[in-house]
Amino acid sequence: MVQIPDKVLKEKLVKAGLITEEEFEKVLFDAKRMGQSTADILISRNYLKSDYYTGLLAEYFGVPLAKLSTRSIDESVLRLLPENIAKQKRVIIFRREKDGSLNVAMNDPNDLTTIEFLSSYLKAKIKPFLATGEDLNRGYALYGRRSAEEFRKIIEDNIKASLQAQIYGKSAKEAAAEVPIVAIVDNILSYAIASRASDIHLEILEENILVRYRIDGVLHEITRIPKEVHPPIAARFKLLSGLRLDEHSKPQDGRFRFQASGGDVIDIRVSVIPTFYGEKVEMRLLEATSRPLSFEELGMLEDTIKVVKENIAKTYGIILITGPTGSGKTTTLYSIINVLNRPEVNINTIEDPIEYEMKYVNQMQVNPQAGITFASGLRALLRQDPNIILVGEIRDSETGDIAVQAALTGHLVLSTLHTNDAPTAVPRLFDMKIEPFLVAAVLNMIMAQRLVRRICQDCITSFKVTPEIANAIKNQFKGLELENPPEIPKTLYKGEGCSVCGGLGYKGRLSIYENMNVDEEIRNEIVNPNFTLDNLKKILRKKGFVTMFEDGLRKAERGMTTIEEILRVIRE
Ligand SMILES: [Zn+2]
Repeated sequence: MVQIPDKVLKEKLVKAGLITEEEFEKVLFDAKRMGQSTADILISRNYLKSDYYTGLLAEYFGVPLAKLSTRSIDESVLRLLPENIAKQKRVIIFRREKDGSLNVAMNDPNDLTTIEFLSSYLKAKIKPFLATGEDLNRGYALYGRRSAEEFRKIIEDNIKASLQAQIYGKSAKEAAAEVPIVAIVDNILSYAIASRASDIHLEILEENILVRYRIDGVLHEITRIPKEVHPPIAARFKLLSGLRLDEHSKPQDGRFRFQASGGDVIDIRVSVIPTFYGEKVEMRLLEATSRPLSFEELGMLEDTIKVVKENIAKTYGIILITGPTGSGKTTTLYSIINVLNRPEVNINTIEDPIEYEMKYVNQMQVNPQAGITFASGLRALLRQDPNIILVGEIRDSETGDIAVQAALTGHLVLSTLHTNDAPTAVPRLFDMKIEPFLVAAVLNMIMAQRLVRRICQDCITSFKVTPEIANAIKNQFKGLELENPPEIPKTLYKGEGCSVCGGLGYKGRLSIYENMNVDEEIRNEIVNPNFTLDNLKKILRKKGFVTMFEDGLRKAERGMTTIEEILRVIRE
């Protein structure tokens, strides 16, 4: 992405009152230190929203914004330029005007060489618009969608050919040998990338092989492959990832790098395990590391951001993020660390595994063979004079104990716990034999979270709330003894399914949160000899605590996600 020169940016932002000169200098220093752009740091530290920055950029270049999220893209015009050229030049052609000139969304609207190239290649006048990465991806998804359908067709055609060969008297083995395995494997991978899948599963059933992709956290059946074709496909994946082909009885792990037809290069982690019917292959598609998300991009609303910011500014105490596995806790922790990552602080982590490498953060990996556990690692890193400590998870009383001692001796400790909601973290700490007065002394904030799918903004539509949905919402408030239960919304949103989201109606994810700020009143309740979880929840209620369901409901009302998603993750 092109940038506004730092000097110009500073002047504009200071004038707009979004940042002081000193703060800007700090950001500038950190941007250089961490090898990120000034804009990225500003956005991830919540000084400004990415939309606002894009607006400034357009103003600076004197071109209109492409805004392909709210504008329909003329697909016949889009395809005037082949996909590989569009990707290489970072452009999308989205409309032809009456006078024949073409509107082009460009990453760098100042790039005259590209404008001249397009003008002569397309024999038309080019009108540049400023595009964000998201704008361009929307356009590329349209190219991608067509090829995604082609992938499925190629996979199915190849399989049909194999079955036909069997009808003509060839044995299953001979037929399988004729199937273009390399083409099937390439297409399974390319189709997954075009669908934005995070995982590929080849599940072995009695009759056939089920190919499933995980997209935004949910598994989708893609196709079924006849059993005869499975051994050569499994062998192909093992070959690609450097695994032993003659080993069929032990689990194996490997990885490889794959270049999709669209030019995207992606790392793939492979796990092969023996099952009763044959080898089960699972693949994790590793996203190219991008910058950590800002609190807003994670899905936090204003009131949540305020409480988080207040609590991470403290120099000691414990911040806990809670939720089941896969609820996005680590992503939230990395976003917090990114905000805290300044030269004057020493940040140390003990993680299992290290999911994201951060510059100037001392990250340690749990390794039981080498004797590094959460507890022993934590003890070791306390000798490194840290200010801020991230412990991947508090699982046992030993780790809990050291974390509490660290928090009491002037360290800010960030960690996670496996509890379903925020208040339950308190009795969980009691279960770990941590004295109530210590729990009360060290806790700053407990935040529970879940991941939900985001409604695709290209096919979002509203609908009248049915009595069934209204009842499902009412049920969530039952038993809370509310004086004023919240109103049931009359209109909610969903995605109808379109080419951009592959017909799913969802694209991307966000978190829903409940944020328990541990203040004086809560501390008093924690040390109350008659402490009960119910009482704690009642007190929170009175203080206007927003539960995870309520946070989800308000996000559903804003069209960020669907009520089905909220109910699905709340029930889990
Ligand atoms: Zn859509």
